[in-house]
Amino acid sequence: MTETTNLLHPKSEAHSQFWQNAHLYFERIYNTMNLDPTWRPVLSSPKRVLTVSCPVRMDDGRIQVFTGYRVQHNSARGPYKGGIRYDPSVSRDEVMALAMIQTWKNALVKLPYGGAKGGVVCDPRKLSLGEKERLTRRFTYEIMPIIGPDQDIPAPDVGTDAQVMSWMFDTYSMMIGHQELGVVTGKPVTLGGSVGREEATGRGVMNTLRKYLATRNKALSDVRIAVQGFGNVGYHTARLLAQRGATIIAVTERASGIFDESGIDIESAGQYYRQNGTLDEFPGADAISNEDLLVCDCDVLIPAAMENTLTEEVAYHIKAPTVVEAANGPTTPKADEILRDNGVTIIPDILANAGGVTVSYFEWVQGLQNFFWDAKRVQDELQQVMEQAFDEVNAKADAADCDYRTAAYSIAISRVAEASKLKGLFP
Ligand code: GLU
Repeated sequence: MTETTNLLHPKSEAHSQFWQNAHLYFERIYNTMNLDPTWRPVLSSPKRVLTVSCPVRMDDGRIQVFTGYRVQHNSARGPYKGGIRYDPSVSRDEVMALAMIQTWKNALVKLPYGGAKGGVVCDPRKLSLGEKERLTRRFTYEIMPIIGPDQDIPAPDVGTDAQVMSWMFDTYSMMIGHQELGVVTGKPVTLGGSVGREEATGRGVMNTLRKYLATRNKALSDVRIAVQGFGNVGYHTARLLAQRGATIIAVTERASGIFDESGIDIESAGQYYRQNGTLDEFPGADAISNEDLLVCDCDVLIPAAMENTLTEEVAYHIKAPTVVEAANGPTTPKADEILRDNGVTIIPDILANAGGVTVSYFEWVQGLQNFFWDAKRVQDELQQVMEQAFDEVNAKADAADCDYRTAAYSIAISRVAEASKLKGLFP
């Protein structure tokens, strides 16, 4: 395969910056690994890219057509797995990049999965509940030929939640004539979801940061943290860190943010945000913008919103010595280089935010066995997976004298490369 025959390769035609960035990371790290170059184009290309049109009857009687995607990146290590995003900025290239990142993430925490991602171009905040349900059911129907408990297992991501997963689960189950718990994860507990799935990404971020700080003889109670993003991941990350003594000095959501040097009461801020849809005028805190949060004086910066938030321009001004990527792809390769040069430690997305998909895996296993675990078991097993992954990345970074992203990617890529090589090519 060459770049001219592979139209999905970022160099073959006009592709978005984010898809190019996902490649740049892959290429940079693959080049340091002394791996057989034969598998390189296979590892860097999505296996399947499905684009669908979802006609939906809106509440006012109009029919609106929404574009949706499901991208399956690589299945060398098992069925495809990854979330579904509802956001106006969703594009085919974005979903391709996120699917690739998911392949490395799943391999890094040793889940028996390949990587995938999906998305629908829509603004979920502007859809009524009924419109969202009809869109979800139609989208599920459209991607039905390529999903299934042994084939590809969707889950929540930005803009989707347990309710959306319930509709996906129900639509798929109705179509095949029986209930299929294993087809999606992130379901509500009453419908065969796993306890602890909702907070899992945040809990994994907390486990990872705590473990990292321990290598520096520090505890969570020693650090002041700024969190960008107050959705599912940002909220639970901030909440669990604060519970363990960290001082959360700033949080922002899309359009508002709060700052309090003495520490924000995250549970109250969460309640306030759910009630008002904004953090504006949250009592007792000052206002802060997203831009100011990224460069504020703190010990740990946690981007927990969208990709490409830490850009070259921002990177020069970041004061935090440690960045923990709770979002997928928040740091551009150029910013990554600048931060590394400035001595900033970055705990990369594929390690830091792998807690969500790890508990998704626990949910899938519980669903297949119809045997459900309690919260303690979920939390203990998650902690074990996250700490083991951190230890492996830390050991690799020490041995190879490299940064955590390079270490994490090389471990993940070599696992996927090994599986691909062992399976060989069909036909
Ligand atoms: N969307 C989450 C992620 O980015 C979770 C995926 C899953 O649970 O399959 O890792």
